[in-house]
Amino acid sequence: MYDLEAFMKELQRKNPDQPEFIQAVRGVLSSIIDLVNGNPVYEKNRILERMTEPDRILQFRVEWENDKGELEVNRAWRVQFNNAIGPYKGGTRFTKDLTLGTLKFLAFEQTFKNSLTTLPMGGGKGGCDFDPAGKSDREIMRFCRAYMMELQKYIGPDTDVPAGDLGCGGREIGYMYGMYKQIKTENTGVLTGKDMSFGGSILRPEATGYGAIYFAEEMLKDRGDKLEGKRIAISGYGNVAWGVAKKASQLGAKVVTLSGRKGFVLDEEGVGTQEKWDFLEALRASNTGNVEAYAKRFGAKFFPGEKPWGVKCDMAFPCASQNELDLADAKTLVAGGCKYVVESSNMGDTPEATEYFQSHGVAFAPGKAANAGGVACSGLEMSQDAMHYRWSAAEVDEKLHEIMQSIHKACVDYGRRADGTVDYVRGANAASFKHVADTMLKLGY
Ligand code: GLU
Repeated sequence: MYDLEAFMKELQRKNPDQPEFIQAVRGVLSSIIDLVNGNPVYEKNRILERMTEPDRILQFRVEWENDKGELEVNRAWRVQFNNAIGPYKGGTRFTKDLTLGTLKFLAFEQTFKNSLTTLPMGGGKGGCDFDPAGKSDREIMRFCRAYMMELQKYIGPDTDVPAGDLGCGGREIGYMYGMYKQIKTENTGVLTGKDMSFGGSILRPEATGYGAIYFAEEMLKDRGDKLEGKRIAISGYGNVAWGVAKKASQLGAKVVTLSGRKGFVLDEEGVGTQEKWDFLEALRASNTGNVEAYAKRFGAKFFPGEKPWGVKCDMAFPCASQNELDLADAKTLVAGGCKYVVESSNMGDTPEATEYFQSHGVAFAPGKAANAGGVACSGLEMSQDAMHYRWSAAEVDEKLHEIMQSIHKACVDYGRRADGTVDYVRGANAASFKHVADTMLKLGY
């Protein structure tokens, strides 16, 4: 029998400076320890020890020249966490304060998330402590090329397939892929999130947000409710927020908030027109996070220094970054009548916030289930690249929709409570743990 506290103590001892990684592991294990201990084969095969230790971590130096002709030096990593189910797969984060601990938490979560998609993908994550804010296009290009110069040694279409994440979008993927092609003379799908002109999948940019809404629709259906007419608060302004706003409005709901580094926007009219979505796309590309510009442009209200969770809403979609929604925010949301929280960022809610939602009748979907649409579409991009073929928007959308429905079903199968409601945290963790752990057992050690 595993003793959860003793296991966590040892993990903490081995990873003393990685609080987010510890939080992510505890989040998974505390919800399924009975399932783990219910099958002695897991402990006999040291499955928890193996699943919480990455297969390998690559660390490298990135050297590039800024516009002043000075040399800049950054630190980068690729965490190849677990490839039981398929090639390592996961995004690339470029943020100034990035640490290995953050990447380990993301790669750990990614392993579980990817297993829920039903597609053959293992888990990985990478990135660099590079700050894209204020960098010129040429600087971004020189940095991306230098990053790929080293990374190309460790990745491949059947080994490890990176994509984007915070600070790394279509432009950065393009520059990295350009470098990869120059070095390898290959046209393989070694990165996903590529532009459609050179092997990308249609709908990949929209997929995380669309997927979160498709998942939310299933949550609503399970409670005999519907999306139409719902008032939605979201945080963030990037790719995920944009996709959520677009799909939610197309399906008759109204997204009334957005947020950036310096505050949030309340748009009572709703973020529901092509003009507003285009504006968001440009804002994301600028890497500034200045949502006040949106408020100015569309006559919405800007609240400096505040989060959007004080706004009355039926549903909340955190779409920014880890631990962005805490206990105080959770209390405010519940008091304001929020009934659904669909975590669209990775580990967007603190454990206390999650617990508060779950004990107050809120249907709470964790990121590894709700935001899996992005990586699922990446998996579809890998398939299309391997086939040297392209599916239409309708075909990709249908597959994405089916995948999100099947993730919801897995959560229900493993997470239905006695009172009929669904514990999505347990459901997502149990279904994905079983998938990864049982596959590892079949592969031996
Ligand atoms: N960064 C995204 C995530 O957190 C996408 C990863 C991918 O497409 O590989 O799932």
